[in-house]
Amino acid sequence: MDLDTVLDELNWIPRPRMLALRRLGIARVRDLLTHYPRRYENRLQFPSFPRDETVDPVCLCGDVVKTRLMRFGGRKIFEAVLEESNAHALSQPLTCRWFNLHYIQKVIATGQRLIIFGRVKRKGLRLVVDHPECEVIEDDEEILIHFRRITPIYPATEGLSQRVLRGLIFRLLEQVDVASADVPLPDSLGNGDDEDALRKIHFPESDEQLREVRMHLVLGEFFRMQMQIAAARAKNSSRVGCCHQARGLLEEKFTAALPFGLTRAQQRVLNEIKHDLQLASPMNRLLQGDVGSGKTVVAIAAMLLAVESGSQAALMAPTQILAEQHYAVLRNWLDPLGIRIALRTGTRQEDNTPLPLFARDSALLGSAGCQPAVSGSLPDTRSSPGISEPSYHYRRLPHFERPWAKYAIAFSTRNRRKLSPQARDIVLESILRWKDRRYELYAACVMPDHVHLLIEPMVERDGEGGNSIFFSLSKILHSIRSFTSNQINKVERSSGPIWEGESFDRLIRSESDLQEKFNYITRNPWEAGVVTPKEDYPWVWYPEVEFKKEKFAASCREQQAGSLRSPEEERRNNPAPQIIVGTHALLYENVTFSNLGLAVIDEQHKFGVAQRGKLTAREPAPDVLVMTATPIPRTLTMTIYGDLEVSTIDEMPRGRGEIITHLLTTDKLGEAITFLRQELTAGRQAYIIYPLIDESEKLDAKAAAKEFEQWQERLRPFRCELLHGRVVSPDKQAIMQRFRAGETHALISTTVIEVGVDIPNATIMLIENAERFGLSQLHQLRGRIGRGAHTSHCWLVSSDKTPETMMKLAVLEKTTNGFEIAEADWELRGPGDLLGTAQSGLPELKLGDLRRDAALMRKARRATLQLLENDPGLDRPENQRFRDLIVERQGQTFSHVS
Ligand code: ADP
Ligand code: MG
Repeated sequence: MDLDTVLDELNWIPRPRMLALRRLGIARVRDLLTHYPRRYENRLQFPSFPRDETVDPVCLCGDVVKTRLMRFGGRKIFEAVLEESNAHALSQPLTCRWFNLHYIQKVIATGQRLIIFGRVKRKGLRLVVDHPECEVIEDDEEILIHFRRITPIYPATEGLSQRVLRGLIFRLLEQVDVASADVPLPDSLGNGDDEDALRKIHFPESDEQLREVRMHLVLGEFFRMQMQIAAARAKNSSRVGCCHQARGLLEEKFTAALPFGLTRAQQRVLNEIKHDLQLASPMNRLLQGDVGSGKTVVAIAAMLLAVESGSQAALMAPTQILAEQHYAVLRNWLDPLGIRIALRTGTRQEDNTPLPLFARDSALLGSAGCQPAVSGSLPDTRSSPGISEPSYHYRRLPHFERPWAKYAIAFSTRNRRKLSPQARDIVLESILRWKDRRYELYAACVMPDHVHLLIEPMVERDGEGGNSIFFSLSKILHSIRSFTSNQINKVERSSGPIWEGESFDRLIRSESDLQEKFNYITRNPWEAGVVTPKEDYPWVWYPEVEFKKEKFAASCREQQAGSLRSPEEERRNNPAPQIIVGTHALLYENVTFSNLGLAVIDEQHKFGVAQRGKLTAREPAPDVLVMTATPIPRTLTMTIYGDLEVSTIDEMPRGRGEIITHLLTTDKLGEAITFLRQELTAGRQAYIIYPLIDESEKLDAKAAAKEFEQWQERLRPFRCELLHGRVVSPDKQAIMQRFRAGETHALISTTVIEVGVDIPNATIMLIENAERFGLSQLHQLRGRIGRGAHTSHCWLVSSDKTPETMMKLAVLEKTTNGFEIAEADWELRGPGDLLGTAQSGLPELKLGDLRRDAALMRKARRATLQLLENDPGLDRPENQRFRDLIVERQGQTFSHVS
């Protein structure tokens, strides 16, 4: 019999026990022997019964002198009174209580000797222990296994008592040679081999021995893990990936157009990425940085490097909202550079590539150029005749009017009155009248009851300090409207206003935006059905109107008749996108990339390692950049993320408003609401967050709706909207859009807005039932505010006043440093939550604890690196014994991680 023997082959384990073991996933000898004790009880000597409450649980031994069963309503309480075995005058009996545990009364009876483990509390005159762990001492031949020793206590096992499990393991240890279980350790890791380690960890002879053997085994586990990580890395770097040789022209153009300079940290991290991209072996890099530290900008720059070198880049977000937002951000920055971007999510597919028809004639508009709307400096490429390079600060203009900006403008007739053909002539003529004097005109369309314009206001005069003053939209519109009103009233012998006082204008943000609007305006009469496809509509104007008119009419006909183009033709006219933005799932499952060179994965902990593996399994392996805003404790970057290089943005961009965090109990909610109303009045916006009730609970939508009504009431007359997981995607989009545009003042939401949403004017966040969230999640949520220059406020509202909760939440009050918070969160909750359900792909740690044993992990890592540095192939005779560690074994494979 050895460690791999299947337990069924041992004929002494009764069948019901076998079944129970199998439920625990224990099938082989090895599994049972590595079912390590959870804790130990020193049953050599028990302390005497306490006289008062204890802070920690204690292990006591006593005799059952009395039992009784009581009922309170539907509740059953079973009590057993315990007395110290050699009771003396001062010793006080102890009452053990169990609530609603039916089987316990069958197990415990007067006269038994019992070992219990639990925390002692005072209840009136009595000392009680509620729900202690307990074990009845039976006088049989096995007494020496369970008693008078340091006794192992195992993780709770349904269907198997401690006694049974302990007995099985004890017997197994007598029969198996456990020496082969020992992991060979290099000298630097300490106390040599220990062939008896497995026996000692279950039945140690002393505390001292236990400490030593535990360390030995933990080091063994860690060393094996580190060796496998090293092997995975080695395997990865021997793969051939894409070698991105880019001069960085696109990236330079991009960073030059940013209205801010990169922080030193961003620059450093970008250089690290650049370096990796140039290598032939695939990049596997983790980019961590606090929320708002500017990871996206770095990612865009990296993608441009890949694009310039001729490959595709992909950006994957965990949710639809985020994918949409990334897409919008990317288009904003990259449309001006002429990058083809596509959005691929479950519900929306969009390409920014120009319509085929337009592409053929794009030279027409191409000369007009279009600068990134966000750029504050003047484009140097611009060559407008007669205008000499004015210098300009856009802050001098009303915020919505920018230099060399193009606008789509619409205004309609009063009461939607219909303009006669003659009146339409007048309007079009007057629009043309100021063309090239007050604005450049790209398109105009006088519809029966409204007017569309696509214009770029021109410089009116030079202002002080060499700044140029542009014709303002209001001035331009005023001239058109008042002039035409007069004219129309004159010829129609009427009086009174012709036009509605309001107009609609929209800043054109990119070349493709311009083209889109252009198409919209010039096709409007046909699209709107004012005229049939074959008819002409004389009140549309655009450069070279006569030449193109026929074409547009034709294209409208074509559109109405459905697509006449063959798919091949479509593809030829729409070359493959250079950057694809999408949700995680969609991107790795459905989309076939033609030439994926770089995959950027946003918010890693929602994206399992296995998924990453699936994505990177393609050949040639793309470079992978994983971004996370939840800083990952160092121990984890050495282990779970051990196959990734780590880049850290540890610096925030300047000029961010401070975030002040307040803790608040529910009864003081009024204070927060008063404050909130003040801020809304001042023009800010707010998020109200409540815990997402688990998908499985039906409550969600109902609770949300109730919550929403309340908030609407509290914040009246400000406009609120409700957002939660069940809102269908297009609506979600619209809700976010209205909030972004400032039409909505407060967003009542579940955590669907958790990551990545970027709305600088939103400066208030109120989180209800904050105690239900983990620290890192709260930090993430809070990262949605503090994005503009205004001071932001976060209210953590909790109905739970226990010290634990208060202490937890106070961490957020004290610091906004994501790393500190992540460490604290990890302390409180363990890595499980941090990683979500993501499978690490690493061998499971059965004994070692990533937190408690962090120092040992560092030691194991150092030893591994040293070993492999001196002997990368493990070729030396003395290192042969380590080779086994990196051989894949079932259940311990690491292969899908690279
Ligand atoms: P993250 O993804 O790390 O949370 P983002 O990349 O979304 O952060 O950046 C947050 C905001 O900060 C964006 O509006 C971005 O334009 C802006 N930003 C990024 N880098 C800088 C910088 N160096 N200086 C000023 N603002 C910046
Ligand atoms: Mg982000």
